[in-house]
Amino acid sequence: ATPTALLVGTGRGAQLGILIKGPEVLESTRRVDTVVLDKTGTVTTGRMALAAVEAVGDEDEALRIAGALEHASEHPVARAISQAATERLGALPEVAEFRNVEGLGVEGVVDGRGVVVGRAKLLADRAVTVPPALDAARRAAEAKGWTAVLLAWDGEARAVLSVRDAVKETSAEAVRELRALGLRPVLLTGDNEAAARAVAAEVGIDEVIAEVLPREKVEVVTRLQREGRVVAMVGDGVNDAAALARADLGLAMGTGTDVAIEAGDLTLVRGDLRAAVDAIRLARRTLGTIK
Ligand code: ADP
Ligand code: MG
Repeated sequence: ATPTALLVGTGRGAQLGILIKGPEVLESTRRVDTVVLDKTGTVTTGRMALAAVEAVGDEDEALRIAGALEHASEHPVARAISQAATERLGALPEVAEFRNVEGLGVEGVVDGRGVVVGRAKLLADRAVTVPPALDAARRAAEAKGWTAVLLAWDGEARAVLSVRDAVKETSAEAVRELRALGLRPVLLTGDNEAAARAVAAEVGIDEVIAEVLPREKVEVVTRLQREGRVVAMVGDGVNDAAALARADLGLAMGTGTDVAIEAGDLTLVRGDLRAAVDAIRLARRTLGTIK
């Protein structure tokens, strides 16, 4: 393609709300056949809200302890829990020795108790056994498409806290258009399989890769590339950055974190998945006309 045509394409991109790092990016965009979509914050709004609390003992006490711990975390799940706790219960206790366990949850000391909030795997890693009733409650919540995390203190599981997220209004249409362009959409997430399937079904994706740790996202992209696929990755989070950099084409949500935006080749300014479709169409058109 001539430099002029590429520059025209880049300028047209800006009008569509697509910031392109360099004109050469359009070349890789044209060859893409697979689009890996991060779930939280990319396909969904990422603005989570507390949906349910099921506790072995007092529900408010569970929310108070979990809310206090999550107050120290920036994760969307954490924000939903701490915000609901503050609204319902007012001031929350202080946290000591806070620690974030990437992709699994958080731990720390609240009111002199050693507290853990997170995925079942994190509790298992800390040798906490989960009573069958709580485990059933967690599965039931996940079957509804919610993200359910467990709360434990002093070595005992005490509650399940569930948060819900909403699919962005434009996501289903974007997925339909990706398919119409002959592209294969894949949903990729650290969230539980059932919640991921529920979102996938809502937007029309059948290929789902769930319960992936942040550092494993990049490995999924590599694996797809080894299978001979040319991969575009769309993401918004810190945990998507390495995968965005590794992908043949990295598309960052403009509403996402700076780390993701820096790692991507393209930025979708409005955080609307339909702009990813526009970008691929634009690349094909720009390069197609002059080849
Ligand atoms: P995603 O790929 O959906 O952005 P993450 O890798 O950030 O997900 O997190 C994966 C899962 O780990 C979450 O769905 C949640 O179950 C658990 N998790 C992560 N951070 C926290 C936290 N601060 N509190 C509770 N659970 C957490
Ligand atoms: Mg995300």
